[in-house]
Amino acid sequence: MLLLIEGRIASLEEAFFCTKEQLEAETIDVALEETLLEVFPSDHRIRTDKRELSYDRLVLAAGSSQDSTVLPQPEEALLTYKEYEAAKHFLQQLPQAESITIVGAGQAGMEAANTLTAIGKKSV
Ligand SMILES: Cc1cc2nc3c(=O)[nH]c(=O)nc-3n(C[C@H](O)[C@H](O)[C@H](O)COP(=O)(O)OP(=O)(O)OC[C@H]3O[C@@H](n4cnc5c(N)ncnc54)[C@H](O)[C@@H]3O)c2cc1C
Repeated sequence: MLLLIEGRIASLEEAFFCTKEQLEAETIDVALEETLLEVFPSDHRIRTDKRELSYDRLVLAAGSSQDSTVLPQPEEALLTYKEYEAAKHFLQQLPQAESITIVGAGQAGMEAANTLTAIGKKSV
């Protein structure tokens, strides 16, 4: 999303690493809009909200997300941009914001502060 704000890419879609079609061309089955609910290791099976699947080897790569008890959620003024839908929402809200408070001054926070100040926003 920051690349888009900086004008280094023309659309948010250009920020994707690869498409579903590219993965399928590599003979990878891609299941989107499907949630893993349960793993049965002794049977080598998993259950999703749509079906059951068996496996020889299972790699769990479910990532991480913030489940904060400090930050109110949902909160209209609280924005994230790790995921596509969140980034689209962020971009819609951005023109109305004069000042932006960034929570977290790690690499992602510092990068965001740099980009947002470059387009004239007051970052705190
Ligand atoms: C704002 C921001 C900027 C960043 N910028 C950079 C950068 O410039 N360069 C860089 O290298 N890294 C960057 N990172 C870090 C990078 O995004 C992460 O390190 C990376 O996404 C981790 O990949 P992952 O596959 O482990 O997890 P994720 O990308 O979090 O993927 C996990 C996936 O699993 C899915 N999932 C979770 N639970 C289930 C379930 N039960 N069933 C089905 N699916 C499930 C999630 O929906 C998600 O799609 C950034 C992160 C943030 C937040």
